[in-house]
Amino acid sequence: MTKVAGEWGRVRQRLQAEVGEAEYRAWLRQMALGTVDGDEVTLHLPTRFLRDWVRSHYGERLNALWRSENPAIRRVDIRVGRSFAAADSESTLAEPAAGSPGAAACAANPQARPGSARLMESMDGRDAFGVMLEPRFTFERFVVGKPNEFAYACARRVAERPASFGFNPLFLYGGVGLGKTHLMHAIAWELAEQPSERWASVAYMSAERFMYRFIAAIRSQSTIEFKEQLRSVGVLMVDDLQFLIGKDNTQEEFFHTFNALVDAGKQIVVSADKSPSDLSGLEARLRTRLGCGMVADLHATTYELRLSILGAKAAAATAAVPSKVLEFLAQRITSNVRELEGALNRLIAHANLFGREITLETTQEVLHDILRAHDRRITIEEIQRKVAEHWNLRLTDMISSRRARAVARPRQVAMYLAKQLTSRSLPEIGRRFGNRDHTTVMHAVARVGELMERDAAFGEEVENLRRMLES
Ligand code: ADP
Ligand code: MG
Repeated sequence: MTKVAGEWGRVRQRLQAEVGEAEYRAWLRQMALGTVDGDEVTLHLPTRFLRDWVRSHYGERLNALWRSENPAIRRVDIRVGRSFAAADSESTLAEPAAGSPGAAACAANPQARPGSARLMESMDGRDAFGVMLEPRFTFERFVVGKPNEFAYACARRVAERPASFGFNPLFLYGGVGLGKTHLMHAIAWELAEQPSERWASVAYMSAERFMYRFIAAIRSQSTIEFKEQLRSVGVLMVDDLQFLIGKDNTQEEFFHTFNALVDAGKQIVVSADKSPSDLSGLEARLRTRLGCGMVADLHATTYELRLSILGAKAAAATAAVPSKVLEFLAQRITSNVRELEGALNRLIAHANLFGREITLETTQEVLHDILRAHDRRITIEEIQRKVAEHWNLRLTDMISSRRARAVARPRQVAMYLAKQLTSRSLPEIGRRFGNRDHTTVMHAVARVGELMERDAAFGEEVENLRRMLES
């Protein structure tokens, strides 16, 4: 072992010198020597995230460095696991996070008592109270983009180092279907792989369930057991906290549980549809405490994020969905990820069921009701207004019979956008443009599409209009 340990020490040093101190601290510091088996060395990292990262970014280099120390080693394997270097002694090196605003109102965050009870041996997909966690809701399957990268980073950080100062509680907020529940489950899944048993016991529940359990406990006179059970977990997650508005007794109970857990150094993760300060129906002292750790919001999705989510989901379903269709959906279904996902699932199910290829036409057919519901967001009139404004025309020019190029071209663009952004049929669009024939609209759509391809500046102009209308 000493020979291997010596090799490991040198490999480590060389890697550290190569990548620099900051990078080393961020990704490699927690790496520890596992086992040596013949020509294979195993290194351990505490989480799946770190393992994946180190594998993909440093795997090759580790192999090469080790081989140069000892040519008999053919492979360096990187796994999740505990090693000789205790994770706890390492974590004292962890740099504390910056204090959060309003920290004065927040209690200190002492370390947890060691040896707190753990409810389960392995999580097997359920939380400490038997709630099933959704297998799809993992970090790996969460697509990161500008609107959610901060919330994602905070969730990852909490899963890596629970209850660190500045991140407790973690408060995630945002509109419906933007990924709050997904991130919470992802934290739970990740913690299940943590080598430290202290955090493996997770309780996840909606605020509604929290209330029903609390009421049931009162009825069966087992509130003490309920509280004990709650306080025995390492991490408590309560989803959709806005549900507690107006439920004063449950709020009170939650507040006490919350305080007890934070004081015991446990991690709390809470989600809601609004920021703590905007949850005006909640008691002021609860709101204050909720805002004491890290508050992270999930913003409405952008076209780019929707497109990458669709791409990832289509790939996961191993379905052949043309990129034109994905672009169309990302453009048209803008409300939230849940609807986007629902639309794609329906499309794939339909294609499988009838053995039909997915095309733009089948998409419009299969999803016509969803698409129609989304139309309400952009009207033909809005399009006409925006286009007229852009080219300094009057709104009436959109429906007039003037054929001068300066009027006719913008009108064609408006028809093109009406076809792209609404699900009105060609005859309907024609009627709205001064009772024109549907062949006129068809011609306009084709002509504008053609021009956009030929003239990049014009294409950019039309795209900008589309983006403005969609935002
Ligand atoms: P919320 O709890 O905020 O209402 P959910 O977490 O339930 O939303 O997300 C709704 C659906 O959208 C889920 O199926 C989830 O997996 C999916 N989803 C949301 N955001 C993302 C994302 N960034 N990447 C992949 N899937 C996402
Ligand atoms: Mg949710």
